[in-house]
Amino acid sequence: MFQMRPWAPPGASDLVGYRDHTPTFLEPTLSTPAPTAAVVGAGIIGCSIALELSRRGWDVTVVDKGSTPGCGSTSASSAMVRFNYDNLQEAVLAWESYARWVEWGKHLGVEDPAGLATYVRTGLLVLDGELLDRSLELGHMDTLGIPYESVTAAQIREQHPALDPARIGPATRVEDEHFWDDPTGEIGGFVQHDSGFVNDATLAAHNLAYAAEQSGATFRWRSQVVEVLRDGNSVSGVRLAEGANVNASVVVNAAGPWSVALNTMAGVLDDFSTSTRATEQEVISVPAPAGFNLDDGGTGVHDPDFGTYFRPHPGGTIIVGSFEAPCDPLILVDDADDVRTSPSPENWEVQSLRLARRLPDLHVPGQKSGVVSAYDITDDWIPIYDKTSLGGYYVAIGTSGHQFKAAPFVGVAMAELIGAVEGGHDHDSDPVVVRGKYTGVDLELGFFSRRREVHLHRQLVD
Ligand SMILES: Cc1cc2nc3c(=O)[nH]c(=O)nc-3n(C[C@H](O)[C@H](O)[C@H](O)COP(=O)(O)OP(=O)(O)OC[C@H]3O[C@@H](n4cnc5c(N)ncnc54)[C@H](O)[C@@H]3O)c2cc1C
Repeated sequence: MFQMRPWAPPGASDLVGYRDHTPTFLEPTLSTPAPTAAVVGAGIIGCSIALELSRRGWDVTVVDKGSTPGCGSTSASSAMVRFNYDNLQEAVLAWESYARWVEWGKHLGVEDPAGLATYVRTGLLVLDGELLDRSLELGHMDTLGIPYESVTAAQIREQHPALDPARIGPATRVEDEHFWDDPTGEIGGFVQHDSGFVNDATLAAHNLAYAAEQSGATFRWRSQVVEVLRDGNSVSGVRLAEGANVNASVVVNAAGPWSVALNTMAGVLDDFSTSTRATEQEVISVPAPAGFNLDDGGTGVHDPDFGTYFRPHPGGTIIVGSFEAPCDPLILVDDADDVRTSPSPENWEVQSLRLARRLPDLHVPGQKSGVVSAYDITDDWIPIYDKTSLGGYYVAIGTSGHQFKAAPFVGVAMAELIGAVEGGHDHDSDPVVVRGKYTGVDLELGFFSRRREVHLHRQLVD
């Protein structure tokens, strides 16, 4: 039932500009009930969408099969925040979201009794390497005025003596006869001083869920969606495993690596030009050598030369993830619940030894630790933020291993997209544009269309 909620909640300051359509904040009155939205998935993306819809006057119910916010992909996220993308639109998402991460309390507008996730600025050294199109990425950073500094191998050595800027790529597997080959030279790169990570990804999702709840959203836990309900060619809600229905005029699929199952239930995949599939992902954790801790010179590193990314982590460790180099097998899973429970010995070996070649003082422990989870990828590793052929059914999926950082502004963009389309705008023929209030740059949502021509460059993860 519609309840009157305080108008102009704290998030109202997030009002963005538009091209071609009017703002979508709703003025609820007792005679016109608020439109209803069901968000499936309480990960970082679903919680952010729920918050922004609630702020705009929607009556939001979030359903999740888990028991807490952020218990899917989000819980395993390395939560790195960086701005180098080979397309402008994702750089806008990251930079707009960064402005919200660094003023997280202000963005939320409420104080979560569970505590506040915090932004840890480590900087990010992006090494040159064959998986990177440096001039393309720097061009977009120039356009947005994102600061960076080009560095030579000598400067890298001076700033991070623990790191060896040798050219050792392209990435190979440990069993490859070339894995231990001598370097073929040295590499430079560039540094983004504002990059860093969010210290607790699950807490960040909790913060958003709490703020959404304070704006009027309702959360239903341990509630698995088993059917998408239709009324003709429009969605009318979702059915839960327990038998109850959540009636809603809008349903948002924010189910992360489980999103394909929901789209199949909804029968909307007919006009998608890219598939989405769940992949198993591992991030390993090793003790940091001297000079590469959070407080003694460690930095985030993108290593497109040797196929990894890594960063120092609280507690004196380094976490290492994969760039999905061509030699590394992509593990696709039909059901994201079927991923391994601990890192595979092969992955542990290749990631720890790749790191050891970059950080020669690294001691690789016998005890293997890390996390295994899943995320869903598209064919070009660019997410889909869009409507679908089923009226009222929207998707925020295919986050492809690098959209944790973007979640704050994805929430804004999805809420604006939904408001515009439900207000009668034809997004397929005239894509909605949302202006970022920090960058002043227009985010072209047509770029994330389900019907896009698959982009040529594959995005890098994290
Ligand atoms: C190992 C790893 C490292 C990463 N590192 C980074 C990084 O450094 N930087 C970065 O920006 N991004 C990173 N990412 C990507 C980022 O974490 C994801 O893009 C993001 O967390 C996706 O959030 P989500 O809300 O879409 O999905 P999820 O967090 O998976 O949430 C989906 C939710 O939907 C629920 N659900 C699914 N199906 C149903 C159903 N039928 N009924 C009810 N509920 C359902 C699930 O329970 C889950 O809670 C990483 C991801 C992984 C896995």
